[in-house]
Amino acid sequence: MRKVRVSLGTLGVLGLELVQMDTPPTTAYLQIYTEERCRANCLFCAQACGSQAELTHIARGMYMPADLDAVVQRLKMAYERGYLRRACIQTALYDTWWEDTVHLIKRIRAESHIPISLSVFPLSDERYKELKELGINELVIPLDACTPELFDKIKGKSAGGPYSWERHLDGIKRGARFFKSVGTHLIIGLGETDENAVKLIDELHSSKINTALFAYTYVPGAQLVLETNKKESIRHYRTVQLARYLIIKGMAAYPDMRFSDGILCDFGVNRDRALGVIEEGAAFQTSGCPECNRPMANETFSRIYNFPRKPNDMEIESIREEIGLK
Ligand code: SF4
Repeated sequence: MRKVRVSLGTLGVLGLELVQMDTPPTTAYLQIYTEERCRANCLFCAQACGSQAELTHIARGMYMPADLDAVVQRLKMAYERGYLRRACIQTALYDTWWEDTVHLIKRIRAESHIPISLSVFPLSDERYKELKELGINELVIPLDACTPELFDKIKGKSAGGPYSWERHLDGIKRGARFFKSVGTHLIIGLGETDENAVKLIDELHSSKINTALFAYTYVPGAQLVLETNKKESIRHYRTVQLARYLIIKGMAAYPDMRFSDGILCDFGVNRDRALGVIEEGAAFQTSGCPECNRPMANETFSRIYNFPRKPNDMEIESIREEIGLK
């Protein structure tokens, strides 16, 4: 029996577990199955070789082992009925990761045309070509950190990992030659300033690279333990969300914005426009591949970073306060 790891919310939508959810996922979140730790050592990650955390965790999400055949058959039904509109595959670095990834993609593709996103480290052009032919729609190579220094400290050589900022950027750019849609994940709250994050998002956007924002989440047993000031961390997150939205919608760009000691003090649009965008709410919804809403991936019931649906009036009011634009 082959297995696959499946997020608890996805198992609920597939009808393989009884899960009560106020907002179900619109994407099936999957991870290739192994009982080994990843050979890389991203310090925030539960699965890293130096981590003591449970292998089932990805940030706050729990990915449970499930029967692959049952999952792909239910996935086909959920896609046809409109409950799930995308499948997202997370990988990890171990001996047979490539064979396991290819097998999972082939099994999904044998049953359905659901769009598939693959989150992976940089690969050779030959492997990108093969993934494209297998039917991967979106390629995502997570940078996670917003600066080369933070990348090195948290994912690279200084962390005892195999990755480098340059190779990741090169992998993203090469990927764009094979896939219409290429993206990256950024974890906000690793020690970057507003300016570091906004500048990178603007540069990536100019190269047509999509950015998905995640909030730093402590996982018990993971190597990275950051002290966070709650008020500042939510101000920083909301500011980056709003700036990202203005950039991707073409309303402002990094050079239009003003920063003081790294803190954004002018979004590059007038106050009414900024308030109008906040009111609309879309800037604070989950970002990333189309149809990816990642409910409760980084959140608790009292602190929502990425809204998996449109924020309500009370939530919009809180966002205005968190950003400091009343
Ligand atoms: S943005 Fe969402 S669907 Fe795309 S790779 Fe990231 S988690 Fe998966």
